[in-house]
Amino acid sequence: MDAAEFRRRGKEMVDYVADYLEKIEERPVYPDVEPGYLRSLIPTEAPVEPESYEDIMKDVERVVMPGITHWHSPNFFAYFPAASSYPAMLADMLCTAIGCIGFSWAHSSVERAALIGAVMMKKVPTDNLYGVREEICFFNFSSSIPSCNQENMWMHIDAAYAGSAFICPEFRPLLNGVEYADSFNFNPHKWMLVNFDCSAMWVKKRTDIIGAFKMEPLYLKHENQESGRHWQIPLGRRFRSLKMWFVFRMYGLQGLQAHIRKQVGLAKEFESLVRADKRFEICAPVVMGLVCFRLKGSNELNQSLLKKITKSREIHLVPCQLSGSFVLRLAICSRSTESRHIQQAWQHITQLAFELLQEHRH
Ligand SMILES: *Cc1c(COP(=O)(O)O)cnc(C)c1O
Repeated sequence: MDAAEFRRRGKEMVDYVADYLEKIEERPVYPDVEPGYLRSLIPTEAPVEPESYEDIMKDVERVVMPGITHWHSPNFFAYFPAASSYPAMLADMLCTAIGCIGFSWAHSSVERAALIGAVMMKKVPTDNLYGVREEICFFNFSSSIPSCNQENMWMHIDAAYAGSAFICPEFRPLLNGVEYADSFNFNPHKWMLVNFDCSAMWVKKRTDIIGAFKMEPLYLKHENQESGRHWQIPLGRRFRSLKMWFVFRMYGLQGLQAHIRKQVGLAKEFESLVRADKRFEICAPVVMGLVCFRLKGSNELNQSLLKKITKSREIHLVPCQLSGSFVLRLAICSRSTESRHIQQAWQHITQLAFELLQEHRH
C-alpha cells in the first residue's frame, strides 16, 4: 500500500468507523457464537501471496464482527464504561503515524499524565479518605489510612472508574483524605472520553517507583534524565497523551463535566424506575453511573432473570455479589446512551421478569 492508496482506504475506513458507530444500535450487543467459531471461517495457514484490501474488509463483517461484544452500543450496560470519542480516535491515528517508542524525556508523555493526577489531587481538602473500589462501594478508610502511613505501608487508591468524576466539584468530597495516599490512579479510558488505553497514575514520592524500575544502559542515556522509562516495566510507551490533549481541548472541562453529569443522571433515572417497581429493590447507593438492583427473592430467581437477559441479547448486563446476594448491575457505559435506552432497557427487564415470575407461579 502506497500513500495514494492509503489516502483512499483511510477515507473509506473513516466512513466505515462512522457508519459502525452511528448504526451500532442495530447490532445485537452480545455475540451469538461459541468458542472456536472462528476455526471454520478462517484458513488454517497464513497467506503466502498478498491478498486484496477488499477481501480483508469483507471478512471484517463475515469473520470478525459476529464475535464482537459491542462495548460502545448504547445497550451495553455491563462492567464499566470504555471511553470513546472522535477526537481521541483521530489523535490515535496521529499517534500511530508518529509511532515513537517514547522512552526518553524527549519523546515521553508520562509527565503530562502524571500532572493531571497531581492537579486532581491538589484540589482536595483533608480529613477522611474514601477509597473508590469495585465501582460499587465507597469504603471509608478514615481510620485505616493514617495508621497505614504509621506502619509504613504503601497506600494506593485505585480510582480507575470513579477518578474521572472528580473533575466535577460535587464529587470532590469523596476524595477527602486523599493526601494520605502514596499513589492514585484513574483511567481516562473509562469515563473521560479517551479511547482505550490510557491510565494515569500519580505517585507521591517518585523515587519509590524509579528505584524499583531503574535501569541505565549507555545507549539509553539522555541529557535530561527525568524520563518516563523508569516508571514502568516495558521500555517503550505509546504517545498516549496526544489523545488526552485532543479530547481535553475539544471538549473543554465543561464538556467533560457535562458527559459525567449526564451519565450520572441516566443512572439516577434508572434507579427511580427500579424504585417505583415493588417487585425490585436497589442494593447499594447510586453514587455515580452504576445501579445495583435485583428482584426481591432468591439468588436463583435473579440468576434466571440474568440468563434470560443475556439470552435475548438486547442489552448486556453482568452480575455481582453483595453480602451474599446475587445482584444485577447496570452501568451507564456508552457515550451514545440516552434516556430512551434506559427506558427501553427497563421495559425489557420488566417484561422478562414478568415472564419469569409467571413461570415460577406455575
Ligand atoms: C476498571 C477497573 C480496573 C481495571 O482497569 P484497567 O486499567 O482497564 O485494567 C481496576 N480497578 C478498578 C477499581 C476498576 O474499576
